[in-house]
Amino acid sequence: MTDLAATVMERCEALGRVSEEPELLVRPFASEAMRRTNGLVADWMRAAGMTVLSDEIGNLIGRYEGRDEGDGTLVFGSHLDTVRDAGKYDGPLGVMVALACVERLHQRNERLPFAVEVVGFADEEGLRFGTTFLGSSVFAGTFDPRLLNLEDADGVKLSDAVRSLGGDPDALAKDGRDGSDLLGYCEVHIEQGPVLERLGLPVSVVSAIAGQSRISVGFVGEAGHAGTVPMEGRRDALCAAAEFVLVVEETARSQPGMVATVGYITTHPGAGNVIPAETTLGLDLRHGDDPVRQRSVQSLRERAEGIAAARGEEYRWQVRQESHAVPTDPELTALLARAVEELGYRVEHLPSGAGHDAAQVAEITPIAMLFVRCKGGISHNPAESVKQEDVAVAIEVTSRFLALAAEERR
Ligand SMILES: [Zn+2]
Repeated sequence: MTDLAATVMERCEALGRVSEEPELLVRPFASEAMRRTNGLVADWMRAAGMTVLSDEIGNLIGRYEGRDEGDGTLVFGSHLDTVRDAGKYDGPLGVMVALACVERLHQRNERLPFAVEVVGFADEEGLRFGTTFLGSSVFAGTFDPRLLNLEDADGVKLSDAVRSLGGDPDALAKDGRDGSDLLGYCEVHIEQGPVLERLGLPVSVVSAIAGQSRISVGFVGEAGHAGTVPMEGRRDALCAAAEFVLVVEETARSQPGMVATVGYITTHPGAGNVIPAETTLGLDLRHGDDPVRQRSVQSLRERAEGIAAARGEEYRWQVRQESHAVPTDPELTALLARAVEELGYRVEHLPSGAGHDAAQVAEITPIAMLFVRCKGGISHNPAESVKQEDVAVAIEVTSRFLALAAEERR
């Protein structure tokens, strides 16, 4: 029997070389590199005894039949697109691990009491059109057709990008699965954080995909000469913003499981010898529990108002984006946790601060996720790294999960 973990590592390497640019890994939606990637993965799927089809948006779907028709389908998946200057594992690892498990079934000539599908989603990162989950939203039937008019940096419309790979942009809705034949969805993904490394564990199950608030916060004071206006009575909008940034940090630090970031501040007029009149900052706040997140957002808003009032300034508060937390399914997650435990590892339930295709698929079927330790928690970076022995654990856990799911169906 072949060493499946070695095969997964080799395949991630091979896919890591399929790029739009020679010096770095970049694989945007509907690119030539995506077409070649889907070709490679389709060959591996067929070699694992699967039938393969590509839907209209370009999701690659491999299917390994169960014992009987109508037994239902357990879906595995992750994305095959990347960010710019990406690592090799964010996305592809999940597809390759699931594929390895099917390969093992095929080698043993084993059929389960359900079909297994492995999906390589066409777009999760949103690199080309600035909107994430194009692939999994089509799969889950939640795709918004208004997005078809979006243009990429070269002015190419999303509808034309879909056509360029042979898809029909007007037929995307038919690819939405209704979920009635689905038993669940499981996604294996690198952790993209340092917690597993700290805990000394190769894998963990995911408790929830965090909800997220993105808010544009502004302070409006008054400009003035940096040399002639005394400190007393200044209405410096950047000082207000500075206070607020530290309040954000303190809020997140005092709330377990919360992360909050101010990723940018712009000032107006933005000259070294002028008191800043206006600042705008970008707040990103995430937590696995929506009420906790909402309470913190409310309290930060009150603090911003207080900071502005104390300085005689105005404040602005504009919610740009809000997505609710997606808890993983308790039963499916318990099954995955049992698989981890039976292989002799302690079970940790970690929240996911990043979004994943699973959050879309949760609209139609129960989801579970398995995190795999990655070096230094680094992702979206060519330095992304996973150990082959951790990949071997992920394959064993996923195989055991399949076996447990099969026992339950019997
Ligand atoms: Zn990813």
